[in-house]
Amino acid sequence: MADFETPQIREYPVIPLIHQGATGHAKPYKADGKFQEPLGYPGELIENWQQVAIDKMGELLGKYRGLQVFLDSCVKCGACTDKCHYFLGTTDPNNMPVGRQDLLRSVYRRYYTLGGKLFPKLVGARELTRETLDEWYSYFHQCSQCRRCSVYCPYGIDTAEISMAAREVLDSVGVGQKYCNEIIGKVNKIGNNLGLPEPALADTLQGLEEEVKEDTGVDVRYPLDEKGAEVLLITPSADFFAEPHVDGLIGYGKVFHQAGVSWTLSSYASEAANFGMFIGSYENTRKLALRIREAALDLGVKRLVFGECGHAWRVAYSFLNTMAGPFDFLDPRYPVPQHICELTYDLLQRGALTLDKSANDHMRLTYHDSCNVARASRMGDKPGGQFTIPREIIKASCNHFYDMPPDTIGEATFCCGGGGGLLTDDLMEIRVKGALPRMEALKEVVEEHGVTHMAAICAICKSQFAKVMPYYGFAMDQIVSVHQLVSNAIVLGAKQ
Ligand code: SF4
Ligand code: SF4
Repeated sequence: MADFETPQIREYPVIPLIHQGATGHAKPYKADGKFQEPLGYPGELIENWQQVAIDKMGELLGKYRGLQVFLDSCVKCGACTDKCHYFLGTTDPNNMPVGRQDLLRSVYRRYYTLGGKLFPKLVGARELTRETLDEWYSYFHQCSQCRRCSVYCPYGIDTAEISMAAREVLDSVGVGQKYCNEIIGKVNKIGNNLGLPEPALADTLQGLEEEVKEDTGVDVRYPLDEKGAEVLLITPSADFFAEPHVDGLIGYGKVFHQAGVSWTLSSYASEAANFGMFIGSYENTRKLALRIREAALDLGVKRLVFGECGHAWRVAYSFLNTMAGPFDFLDPRYPVPQHICELTYDLLQRGALTLDKSANDHMRLTYHDSCNVARASRMGDKPGGQFTIPREIIKASCNHFYDMPPDTIGEATFCCGGGGGLLTDDLMEIRVKGALPRMEALKEVVEEHGVTHMAAICAICKSQFAKVMPYYGFAMDQIVSVHQLVSNAIVLGAKQ
C-alpha cells in the first residue's frame, strides 16, 4: 500500500524519541511556470533567489507585525515540542513547532538582528543557503497551520503564521507547491478547486434532486445561479461529488427546504475553500474572497451561508469582511457570514425542524473538531460556540454520542493531518503519520464506547480521513458529515 511504515497505534498518549531528519525526504511536487506565473510568482528558482528571499522576508516582517514578535519572543521553554501531530507521527525534531520555527528564525537572526550580523554562531543564526531553502520547502509543507502549538505556547507563538510567511518567501523566488497553486489557478479560471464548469454542477445538482425525490418522495431543490434567492450557499466543491461530503450537501438542501428558506449555489463562486491562505498570500486570498462578494451582488441575495469546510470558515469568519466587504447590501439581521451549523442550530432552537434520532441508530458517533474551526474562528454568540453548536446538532440527530479524550478535542483538537495544503498524494507519508494522534484518540472511544463513526464539518478532514483511516485498520466510510446525520434524521413535511 505504501513505501513507508504506518505508525503503530499505542497506549495514548506516548511522546516518541526523536529521529533527526526522519521525514526530511518528504517534499510536495513543485509548481512549474504554468501554475506559478498566473499567481504572480516566477516559474522556477530565480538566479538572485537569495537576495530576493531575504528582501521578501524583510517585507513580510514590516507588513505582519506578529511575525517579528513570534520570531523574537521564543524562550525555548519546550512546551510546544510534543504538541504537533506531525512530530508525534514522524518523530522528526524539525516537526516540533519550535524546531520548525527555528528553520526560519535562524535566517531571520542572521539578516535582521544585530547579534546575528555580528556573532551569528553565538545566537544560532545561519546563512540562507540552497540547503536551507530545500529544508524550508520540506518542513514548511509538513505543517498544516493548525495552531495547536500556539495554544500551549506561553507566548502564544503561532507557527501557522511562520509557515505561511515561509511559503510566501518560497513562492516569491519561484519554489511554489504544485497542489495549492494549481488549485488557486483553477478557482480563478473556473470557480472551484476541481475545475467543474457550470454544466457539470447543474447536472450534479439535478441528480441530487432526483435522488432525494426517490428516497423521500419530496421535491427538495438544489438550485444553481437563481437570482433573488434569499441565501447564497458557499460550499467546498468536494460537496458536489465526494463521499461523505455530498451527503452533507443533501442535508443542507433538506434544512433549507424544511425551513422554507429560498437558497442558491453559484457557479461563479462554487468554492468555499481558499488556498490563498495556505500559501500565505494576502493578494491571492483576497482575489478568491472577492468572487464571493461578486456572486452575492450578482444574484441579489440577502444572506451568505458557508457549508462544512474548516479553513474556508476561518477565512470567511476572520477575513471576509475586511478583504471583500463591506457587505452592507445583505440583511443585517443575520451574521455575515453565517455557518450552516449556526443556521441549522438556530432552526432547531426555534423548533422549526423535527429530527428523528432513531434514523441514525445504526451509528455510534464521535466528533472531530476541525482545527481551523476550533482555533481560528467562532460560531454563535457565546464563547466556545464552535465546539458546542456542532455537538448540539449531532446530539439532536442521534441517540449515541461520545466525545474523544478531552486533550484531543475542543481547543486542544488534533489536526486530521491533511490540512494547510497537504491533502495531496505526494505527501501521503506525512498525512498518514500526522493522523496518528487522532487515530489513537478514535481507537480509545471505539474500544470504550463502541463508537462506529466520526463526524466532521470540514471537507479536508473528511477527504483525509476517508483516505488514511484504512491505514489504521478503520474503514473509509467511518467518517461522516454532520449534515449527513441531519439529513438522515430530518422529518420532511412535518413543519411546526
Ligand atoms: S501549526 Fe499545527 S502543524 Fe504547524 S507546527 Fe503547530 S501544531 Fe504543528
Ligand atoms: S512553547 Fe513557545 S516559547 Fe516555548 S519553545 Fe515553543 S514556541 Fe518557544
